[in-house]
Amino acid sequence: MAETIDIAIVGGGPAGLTAAIYAARARVKTVVYEAAFPGGQIVSASWVENYPGFPNGVSGQDLGDLMHQQAEAQGAVFRNISPVEAIRANGQDFVLTVDGKDVDARAVVLATGAIPKKLGVPGEADFTGRGVSWCATCDGPLYHDKTVAVIGGGDAATQESLYLAKIAKEVHLIHRREELRATECLQEECFFNPQIVMHLAYTITEIVGEGGRVTGVRLISKADGSETLLPVDGVFEFVGVDAQSGLVADLCELDEAGFVKVDRNGVTSRPGLYAAGDVADYELKQVVTACARGAFAAYHAAHYLESRARSS
Ligand code: NAP
Repeated sequence: MAETIDIAIVGGGPAGLTAAIYAARARVKTVVYEAAFPGGQIVSASWVENYPGFPNGVSGQDLGDLMHQQAEAQGAVFRNISPVEAIRANGQDFVLTVDGKDVDARAVVLATGAIPKKLGVPGEADFTGRGVSWCATCDGPLYHDKTVAVIGGGDAATQESLYLAKIAKEVHLIHRREELRATECLQEECFFNPQIVMHLAYTITEIVGEGGRVTGVRLISKADGSETLLPVDGVFEFVGVDAQSGLVADLCELDEAGFVKVDRNGVTSRPGLYAAGDVADYELKQVVTACARGAFAAYHAAHYLESRARSS
């Protein structure tokens, strides 16, 4: 007989892992599908300083590992072999297709997160993996004593600039406006770091290279239209994220940017389908809020199953 899961959690980042802890503790059959490694995007965050309980901060990798261990210890089962290919509704239930096989689930928590956006400038595709990166933790150590550019003005760009400044000789933080949008304390740290050079109100027009490696970025000043070729050895892009909501695009409502619309309990427009973390349309996208939303989603999914059982 085909397996039926009570709560299928799609995505193993902080939202999915917290949902797994809460669902498993509600003693419902909980399976987490994570195609890569548990931890999600947080694994590529160099250092997390605003997650409570770690007064000196914690690496994203360690935090992800600890959450994964905790979810397993509570009884959640992990299937991290292949990506979930499709989710469709089947009456009140859902059918997940994984590795070409169908699995039934009574409720689904979508916690697929978001992936980094690309700038889309000339040279980006040519030098991806050869100087252009979206992960300072992964690629930062390659730039010991070198010069890098970081693009973006949000929390990710500032936080990762601070991390890269510990490795590289010089970090050029390039942002398209006069004001950064990052949290104040991250902005302050960047402005006061002697290794970080700010380029505000500059747009990148091209990533240039020679011999298969990045050698610089072409900038245009918004103030006077002047063009500069800034020599750098690497480019790190942190220009926002795209929601990974494609699996449920036909099942529930999304907002205009593609994030899943949820209420304060993580309930989507379809009964039995919940969303949590960066894939959902919350304003504050932090590890701690992703965890909290994972807890809400699992809690309400478990109650939904209980009320279904009572009324059948
Ligand atoms: P974000 O907050 O959306 O910031 C993206 C930045 O990239 C903005 O400054 C934006 O400029 C710029 N940008 C967007 N498109 C661009 C383009 N085509 N060319 C040049 N610049 C462009 O994204 P994020 O920094 O990746 O953060 C995503 C979410 O994760 C946020 O909610 C953030 O708070 C959270 N996060 C939190 C932490 C932390 O708490 N430590 C760390 C990382 C991320 P404008 O400002 O002009 O729009």
